[in-house]
Amino acid sequence: MCGIIGINSNKPVSGTIINSLKKLEYRGYDSAGIATLSSGQINEVKSEGRVDNLEKNSLVQNMNGTIGIGHVRWATHGLPNSINAHPHSSQNVSVVHNGIIENSTLLKKFLVGKGHKFKSQTDTEVIVHLITENLKTEDIVNSIKKTLKALHGSFALGIIFKDHPDLIIGARRGSPLAVGYGPNENYLGSDSYALKSMTNKITYLNDGEFCVIKKDHVEFFDEEGVKVNKKVLELSSEEKKYDKGDYKHFMAKEIEEQPTTLKNGIKEYLDNSNNDINIYNFPWKVNEISSITLIGCGTAYHSCLMAKYWFEELTSLDVNIDIASEFRYRKNRFKSDTLYVFVSQSGETADTYAALDLCNRNNMKTCSVVNVIESSIARDSKFVLPIHCGTEIGVASTKAFVGQMLILYILALKLGLMRKDIEKEIFLEKLKDLKKLPELVKETLLTDNKIQTISSTFNEAKGSMFLGRGFSYPIALEGALKLKELSYIHAEGYPAGEMKHGPLALIEEGMPVVVLAPRDNYYKKTISNMQEVIARGAKVLLITNKSKDEIVSENIWETIEVETANDDLLPFLLTIPLQKLAYYSALKKGYDIDKPRNLAKSVTVE
Ligand code: GLU
Repeated sequence: MCGIIGINSNKPVSGTIINSLKKLEYRGYDSAGIATLSSGQINEVKSEGRVDNLEKNSLVQNMNGTIGIGHVRWATHGLPNSINAHPHSSQNVSVVHNGIIENSTLLKKFLVGKGHKFKSQTDTEVIVHLITENLKTEDIVNSIKKTLKALHGSFALGIIFKDHPDLIIGARRGSPLAVGYGPNENYLGSDSYALKSMTNKITYLNDGEFCVIKKDHVEFFDEEGVKVNKKVLELSSEEKKYDKGDYKHFMAKEIEEQPTTLKNGIKEYLDNSNNDINIYNFPWKVNEISSITLIGCGTAYHSCLMAKYWFEELTSLDVNIDIASEFRYRKNRFKSDTLYVFVSQSGETADTYAALDLCNRNNMKTCSVVNVIESSIARDSKFVLPIHCGTEIGVASTKAFVGQMLILYILALKLGLMRKDIEKEIFLEKLKDLKKLPELVKETLLTDNKIQTISSTFNEAKGSMFLGRGFSYPIALEGALKLKELSYIHAEGYPAGEMKHGPLALIEEGMPVVVLAPRDNYYKKTISNMQEVIARGAKVLLITNKSKDEIVSENIWETIEVETANDDLLPFLLTIPLQKLAYYSALKKGYDIDKPRNLAKSVTVE
């Protein structure tokens, strides 16, 4: 979500800033802008929509400043138009901001009283004027320190100054920010992905820190303005170029990559020679843990819900799950024998990070399941389980969801064995089955044409429902979320057994309803619920697994059969047709599949 770039160099920077902003596009945004210093002036150019629009602007092409900041915005305060796009500037100061300033209304009142004139509707503009005001009496470091102390909320900032043309200031609280080091130039960026094209030498700012970036060196300060020494990390330089290949969209590619995601995860965590699961350096003894709390947002929350079923099945741990934005503000009773697991693709999800931080401050056992191992959540949790699925660009998560589920399933199996909650024989049987999963997913991916045709009915309907019980319930929620995210169709995921307690009232003639009913323990119950919706006029798409037993139900509109696996693994297979359904619905509608409206890949604001 939104991104910041800053470059301090001795050659013109606008072209490199634009290219780096393109690297941040995957995070989701609505407008873009750039400011550089040249001829003793701040020059700012902004545009609505894509970075391409900004690039085409002739004013950008003529920018020749050697120090500058750039931004892609995801609006929180004020319309996504070019006036509200960042940077925001006064005569002396120009700022790009990621995050939310919660006390902006009060600060604005104060600043207007001091004679400052505001041009935009954003919360960000108060930062510009506050720094400008503080610079009247303070030096640069103290004016920044004083400004940051006055701000409530979250921010990552990049700031340039007309009167200090040799430096960029970076600052962070609650939103990620990194510094990169190059030859005779240094950089500021929201993530290492954006900086990697320029350097592999990086320092991450911790919460509350700010930095002064000059061409030849960088100084870091804590929130009191005291200098701190920071490590320079070397990122692996073998960054593979990740492009769409022959696919129309990243999402299509990422769906097809799922057998590889599973293969990689299995290769990383399964020890074939000893028929075991390797989770090296797990920092706690199993008898120190008697419950587990899994925390995430959106799709990651659905993988937590999925894991609840597996942990309950395979271990005797008490299992709780929570939505990060709820967890962080509730009156939690922290327990030292609980393992807190934080799930996030980007590892930068603001609410999940805040929940992790809360647990760390209470000295809890914290573990994260992330894709980006250099992320804030990975760095600040006491133990990390990477999902190894590679870059995911499509805003609507697919392979990362499957990767998260895999790692959580592996963790449940391993803890079950270590705690002696499952017998070794059963464990071995399940490992054997797990190794077959990538191939089964590959086979299931072949069910294509039918879904393309079916998707039209979903597009024509007012809304749809996704039903499942037991292991299929979290997948029903995820299927409905995918359809909402991509094709903007109202879709409701529900436990099939709950229909008669209210939602059955929504069913009307011709309404498409997806029923997930694999031949597991819940099969018969789900089929009964399916009949109840068919009886009320629903057009049911039944998704089950292949079996020699006939389906004993009439008037089913369409049936899709996925491959067969043990009950634990069926959720992986059921996920595939639902991802494709969402993809094809959006494709037929002509929507921007990799960047759905209003959404962002890395949700770095609360
Ligand atoms: N709150 C700021 C705005 O609405 C920054 C949003 C962002 O993170 O892009 O302009």
